[in-house]
Amino acid sequence: MLAGRRKPLVAGNWKMNGASMSLDAARDIAEAAAEASDFVDVMLCPPATLISRLDMRCAGTPLLIGAQNCHAEQSGAFTGEISSEMLADAGATAVICGHSERREYNSESSARVKEKALAAHRANLKAIICVGETETERRAGKAADVIQTQLAASLPSSSTPDNTIIAYEPVWAIGTGLTPSPNDIGEMHSGIRLFVSDILDQARGAGMRILYGGSVKPSNASQILALENVDGALVGGASLTAEDFVPIFRHYVPLAAVALEMDDLQETETVSG
Ligand code: PEP
Repeated sequence: MLAGRRKPLVAGNWKMNGASMSLDAARDIAEAAAEASDFVDVMLCPPATLISRLDMRCAGTPLLIGAQNCHAEQSGAFTGEISSEMLADAGATAVICGHSERREYNSESSARVKEKALAAHRANLKAIICVGETETERRAGKAADVIQTQLAASLPSSSTPDNTIIAYEPVWAIGTGLTPSPNDIGEMHSGIRLFVSDILDQARGAGMRILYGGSVKPSNASQILALENVDGALVGGASLTAEDFVPIFRHYVPLAAVALEMDDLQETETVSG
């Protein structure tokens, strides 16, 4: 991926939500993703139990499927774990590494996150590496330092724009309805790009997609996604229904294209009516 040619990505993290019934919502999302595919990549990260069924149900559409976690090893005596190779075999093309809920509830350190990202690369999955500061850290003026420390320890040196995506997700914004100001998001994203250029190199820093995550919803998506250095979003709660998720990624579809789609629709209705 070249600098200035970063195709945006809007990824939905279903967390521990979703069962067979959710496949209909996924199909609706996949169909809307097909209409938007010239402008934005769309991904759903369902629970591991749904990956292969979602893959089958959305076959023939551009919807990308990601997983929410992987184990660092390829196989072995790790009861209850799933390797990146198994996720790829089930139909995933990406995996979230180091979501703050896993860092918090499963004590995942940045070193462990790096191992998981390397495991993702080994299986040809894109690693979506999450970083984010707590509310206390932000109030103490340490947000940028915390993010740099997490990035330095989580990002494999072999990361490229093709195998890695960064998600900046302030912990205090996840599931709370709170978001940083547009200015704070913009500042953090440009800081992340500079830092990645520093620790990897300029070309990889310029090409790496940096997503924002934390309480993105239809009502605030346009303001956040329009910011410089914001290359898309990682969306939790608002990715569970097509009604909420589709308007978020439609932000990237130019109005002219939407108007054309409406014309097509009206023509079909006239012809068939
Ligand atoms: C997330 O879990 O990655 C997330 C951003 O959640 P929400 O959109 O619900 O804040």
